[in-house]
Amino acid sequence: MKAVAKVKREPGVEVIETEPDGIGDDEALLKMRSASICGSDLGFYNFTAAYQKWAKIPVIMGHEFSGEVAEVGKAVSGFSRGDRVVCEPIQYCGSCRYCRMGITNICQNFTVLGMHRNGAFAEYVSVHEKYLHGVPDNVTFLEAAIVEPLSVVVNGLDEIADVHAGQKAAVVGPGPLGMFSAEVLRSKGISDITVIGIGIDEYRLGVARDKLGIRTVNWEKENAEEIIKSSTDGYGCDIVVVTAGAPSALRQSIPLVAKGGQILVLGIFPDDVPLPVSDLVRRQVSMLSAYASRWIHFEQALRLLREKKVRADAIVTHRFTLDRAKEAFEMSKAKTGCKVQFYT
Ligand SMILES: [Zn+2]
Ligand SMILES: [Zn+2]
Repeated sequence: MKAVAKVKREPGVEVIETEPDGIGDDEALLKMRSASICGSDLGFYNFTAAYQKWAKIPVIMGHEFSGEVAEVGKAVSGFSRGDRVVCEPIQYCGSCRYCRMGITNICQNFTVLGMHRNGAFAEYVSVHEKYLHGVPDNVTFLEAAIVEPLSVVVNGLDEIADVHAGQKAAVVGPGPLGMFSAEVLRSKGISDITVIGIGIDEYRLGVARDKLGIRTVNWEKENAEEIIKSSTDGYGCDIVVVTAGAPSALRQSIPLVAKGGQILVLGIFPDDVPLPVSDLVRRQVSMLSAYASRWIHFEQALRLLREKKVRADAIVTHRFTLDRAKEAFEMSKAKTGCKVQFYT
């Protein structure tokens, strides 16, 4: 089969020809149908310091995907050949303190599909049954392949942050996580949303504005603080979601939040970020974060797609076959697409 793998300890990927992994008794072999490129895949592609230490190489990349069950092990009881599924990428141990508390997304010993075990940028991928979820009939493979990043946003906005209808919101970073954040906020009855980006985000800001009908601000051309203040009677937003991983984006987000408001950080930053902590304290602003997701967030994300609350069609802008991997990664890197997918 064809697969997109990190083979060498250097930037880039290779399209390789290899055999699918065998399956254990409690595993299933899936035929990949759609698989999305994630920001973390880009970090791994660029081979930044964090991934040099963390990932196991060689490995087939990819953890956001949908597929069809091709074969099941003897002990698999919940799924059978032909079922349409998505799969959680966080492989948790089940026995550490956090797993026992039910917060498997921050398991002490977790590993990640497509980073420590062969992933989904391939024609076939083998996975444990316990990470699988059935896909509703009215959800396409294209849509289902965004369940994982959508589930991260669901973790943040459904569980961690305290979000209510009628609040005012801003999203800093118009990448896929930013778009999903705007859609989940909208599904919760928040209609006053501003998505903020910079010059390199021009294409993505266009998607937010033209396809999703959301107010956008280009930070390099416009004064985001003034625009937000004038649309909130001078108070600022109740919630600001920061999906961009740039230190300056986080710092510039702070004046956008109203007193008593919340900043939800979903981005991962290359360096430590100095913050005006006294300002946060005096204005009683909560700084929150969410990492990855677990079973319940996958189920909630699938429900949002089933109920057509998230316009995945607009956010997935480009699709490639596996042999065009380099083109797909370079497009993600240049931000000239929003969510970029592989398909078979
Ligand atoms: Zn991801
Ligand atoms: Zn654990």
